Amino acid sequence: MLNKRTVEDLEVKSKKVLVRVDFNVPMDEKGKITDDRRIREALPTINYLKDKGARVILMSHLGRPKGKVNPQYSLKPVARRLSELMGQPVIMCEDVVGEDAHKKSEALKDGEVMLLENVRFHAEEEKNDPEFAKKLSELGELYVNDAFGTAHRAHASTAGVADYLPSAVGFLIKKELDVMGKVLSNPERPFVAILGGAKVSDKIGVIKNLIDKVDTLLIGGGMAFTFFKALGREVGKSVLEEDKVELASELLKKAELKGIKLLLPVDIVAAKEFKADAEHMTVESNEIPGDYMGLDIGEKTQKIYSEIIENAKTVVWNGPMGVFEMPAFSKGTYAIAEAMSKVNGTTIIGGGDSAAAVEQLGFGDKMTHISTGGGASLEFLEGKTLPGIAVINDK
Ligand code: AMP
Repeated sequence: MLNKRTVEDLEVKSKKVLVRVDFNVPMDEKGKITDDRRIREALPTINYLKDKGARVILMSHLGRPKGKVNPQYSLKPVARRLSELMGQPVIMCEDVVGEDAHKKSEALKDGEVMLLENVRFHAEEEKNDPEFAKKLSELGELYVNDAFGTAHRAHASTAGVADYLPSAVGFLIKKELDVMGKVLSNPERPFVAILGGAKVSDKIGVIKNLIDKVDTLLIGGGMAFTFFKALGREVGKSVLEEDKVELASELLKKAELKGIKLLLPVDIVAAKEFKADAEHMTVESNEIPGDYMGLDIGEKTQKIYSEIIENAKTVVWNGPMGVFEMPAFSKGTYAIAEAMSKVNGTTIIGGGDSAAAVEQLGFGDKMTHISTGGGASLEFLEGKTLPGIAVINDK
């Protein structure tokens, strides 16, 4: 299905392979990694290369050091964690394209693994500066991109470097594209998409692309209120994007024309303030009092949505149903995660907040696929070409 070369198409023995991974892991103030999922997701590619006798040179960004060396964003803790996971030393470099990186890459032996410092210590990285990309490329002989989380960005390490080296995608990108690609091109039906999150504006592209493909679209989260407004309802103090009301109205019409079920919440948990302990109540969605704001979907909606989800064969979810960070308004999101865990079919969670919610609620291992890239999976679901994948050599 994917017509790009994968690591398995490369002759890697004794070759220095430059691998872009996504080691942008969350850390606490002390520099302790709080969730190492992204490191673990990169292991299949790293281990494959190692086992084939490649000399593995890993590169990644971490946080936003804004083009300057900043020890707070050093990848050293990641090298330690990776080394523990692999059960072998990981050689850590003091720089990205400097003397240390060059010396260490030249000294690498077959099966050894090293990690460059944070590529975003150089401002040229995010600018996709060709000179910088060339310098990176000089460290290796082959290039593998396995950083799905940054595949929607054309940076030096995610795209530019492919101009100078033979290239392939790694197993993680392949898995992401295979699972999500199948859903977009040939889903088992009924195909249900659930979209939530704060704003319609962030999800317009996805709605437009999916409206041609799904059987049912379930809307929740803050974006529901812009749709309500389009139906001429009052939404009180709920989040509302006035300039997107027109568009919401067009989307509703389009769904009707295509015979697609686009469902909005029938009841809403509304609160007086945007606060965890705010006074709240459940109201019909066309009866939100003027001084209240909708912060979650109500129980009736949870039931209706859950039933539709449980009877689906393919479900894609992006964006929480409410302000799930506050327990009082997390029940809608929980209900969706639970319903998805019961699906007898393919379940896909777009990255970002919905992925965090599913993990936090303990349903992580019940899903077919949780994307490692929030922005990247959104852009893929929008039907866009991801620059970090477009640059890779075709098969
Ligand atoms: P997104 O990144 O677009 O998926 O949005 C996720 C954010 O949307 C989360 O932080 C939620 O708290 C927020 N959110 C969900 N529902 C609502 C709502 N009804 N009002 C305000 N914010 C919401």
